Amino acid sequence: MTSVVVIGGGIAGYCAALGARREGAEVTVVAKAPGATALYAGAMEVVDDLEALLKNEPHHPFSRLRMDPVRLSTELDTAIPALLLALERDGLKVEGGWRARGSYADIHGLARPANVVPATVAGGELKGLVGRRVTVVGVREVGDYDAASTAQALKELHNVEATPEEVSITELPAGAALTDLYGRRAPALTNTRGLVAYPPGLTNLPDGGFELLASPPSPHGWRLQQAIGLGAVRAEVDGVQVDGARIVAAKAAEKAFRANAFVLATGHYIGGGLRKDGSTSEPLLNLGVFHEGKAVATLGTRLEHLDYLEPAQEFRSGLSTDERLRPLDDAGRAPFENLFAAGAVLGGYHYAGPCGFGVPILTGWLAGRFAARFGR
Ligand SMILES: Cc1cc2nc3c(=O)[nH]c(=O)nc-3n(C[C@H](O)[C@H](O)[C@H](O)COP(=O)(O)OP(=O)(O)OC[C@H]3O[C@@H](n4cnc5c(N)ncnc54)[C@H](O)[C@@H]3O)c2cc1C
Repeated sequence: MTSVVVIGGGIAGYCAALGARREGAEVTVVAKAPGATALYAGAMEVVDDLEALLKNEPHHPFSRLRMDPVRLSTELDTAIPALLLALERDGLKVEGGWRARGSYADIHGLARPANVVPATVAGGELKGLVGRRVTVVGVREVGDYDAASTAQALKELHNVEATPEEVSITELPAGAALTDLYGRRAPALTNTRGLVAYPPGLTNLPDGGFELLASPPSPHGWRLQQAIGLGAVRAEVDGVQVDGARIVAAKAAEKAFRANAFVLATGHYIGGGLRKDGSTSEPLLNLGVFHEGKAVATLGTRLEHLDYLEPAQEFRSGLSTDERLRPLDDAGRAPFENLFAAGAVLGGYHYAGPCGFGVPILTGWLAGRFAARFGR
């Protein structure tokens, strides 16, 4: 049986493990800590317009797979349901698909697009709320959330007939914050009929109740991270053992995780997969870091200038891969034949943009499958 080690315990690592297991591999996931996945707002963006992306974004990780739109669509059609099923098995129900996008309100009443959302968020899709009465629950003791402003924004921005209702949770600590609500039962309301928007984090919502999206720290992110982290080994990979062009083990202090193939799913700056120290580098294997197809090592002050003009530019820097998701060195060659990369460690897209979850899900799923098939 092929063995695969996945380095990284975010959504990309989880999907890589799913893909590799689907191919029959024995998988070990090694993760040092939660990363960006644990901070997501609760709205998984997979992709907006796939054909336009493939036409206009040559460095995007989807484009680098060199698959036509039909093949990519088929892969997404397999990967997303596999993820939904696995998450449900691991205790978190999420809904949706990559072909349709909805809009969901956050705690300020602002809309955010999403293809896939937790089941507890799904009832708050904004088009479905237009013209309907929605009670927006506020908690008197919580200082960093104002249900009246959220209700106002829902009315003015989205034509929802929203009305705030303040409740009291007397056992909350003085000067409570939204984080103090996490894991508590949803409080009872005087009027329990109709739709009810709750601040995120409460449990046992009544029928018609849904959660708003969150800002970090996010209960949606934390629940997801707990579900996907169930089987991971907690360790920091600090080097690899190499035999020619093959990695034979990932080393973590005195431990060595040996396998036939490896998936690097170490995330962007927050996960620790990239480091910005002057210019951006990949700290574990010193792989090439690229910005719109060019090695950042060759860009110098030009990239700093771009960052200055548009700070989001640096979110687009990251690893580049060949069509089988093997990461490249600065010269554009894949230095390891059995290493595959996935998720926010990849460049060529804005990792908090329209493919925020789409890239980790699809590249994770495929990298896991390519890794499992390696050497067969
Ligand atoms: C604040 C915030 C909000 C966001 N909200 C949304 C949203 O609502 N919708 C959306 O679509 N996208 C959102 N995004 C983007 C999305 O969350 C990320 O793109 C996605 O979670 C990245 O997943 P990942 O698995 O690639 O990386 P991460 O989740 O960062 O995981 C990386 C993993 O690698 C591990 N790791 C790193 N180095 C090592 C090592 N040497 N050894 C062992 N383990 C290692 C880390 O500990 C971590 O477990 C948001 C991002 C941020 C920052």
